[in-house]
Amino acid sequence: MQKIAIFGGTFNPPHMGHLRLVKSFEQQNGFDKILIIPTYTPPHKNSDQLASGFDRLQMCLLAFDAPNYEISDIEIKRGGKSYTSDTLKQLKEIYKDTSFHLIIGSDMFLTFHEWKNPQEIFDMCTICASVRDDDKTLEDLQKYAKEYFPNQADKLKIMLCDFEPLEVSSTQLRQMLANGQDVSHLVPKKVVEYINSRGLYNENNGAKY
Ligand code: ATP
Repeated sequence: MQKIAIFGGTFNPPHMGHLRLVKSFEQQNGFDKILIIPTYTPPHKNSDQLASGFDRLQMCLLAFDAPNYEISDIEIKRGGKSYTSDTLKQLKEIYKDTSFHLIIGSDMFLTFHEWKNPQEIFDMCTICASVRDDDKTLEDLQKYAKEYFPNQADKLKIMLCDFEPLEVSSTQLRQMLANGQDVSHLVPKKVVEYINSRGLYNENNGAKY
């Protein structure tokens, strides 16, 4: 049975924090493939300064550049709000005999009970969650998992990873870029070049769809 990890996000833009999160779970699990899936419309976010689906796909291709990474347009193509349960159902049709792992940061994990069909998601995959900043500790995640999903934690359907997160968000990066600040230590070089060549996240360059 092959092991596929799924890592979804807005990726507006992708950054080193995303890469570090995925790599830490990759080292722990040795996935056969990692699917990077940019959302169409992020259900939990307002869409100010959202780069187009095309641009976010291109930036992901440049950021997640390794043979076992695959950038998937499954959610952007499907359109509408991107729900993980729908994506998993679609992927299960495509990849038979596969165990799926869903990689998420603590902010997403701690709202998991509010997602659409959390139980269905558990039935289809193992959740791999990790801290993303100093605000939340591994103990906070364990407490949340025990409180909301006691059965899943017992069945090892939730894996938690304690790694040294890089404190950065796409929101912070968009602000830095609009202010003309240097982001080269937080964003892969090729992504910075792409952002500059396309004039993304400029102050004068409002929301793009
Ligand atoms: P925004 O600031 O626009 O909300 P973001 O930086 O949170 O964006 P997303 O594309 O929304 O990035 O995140 C995709 C996934 O990556 C989510 O599961 C999120 O928790 C996780 N993530 C984002 N940044 C980090 C980070 N610095 N460390 C670990 N996980 C992260």
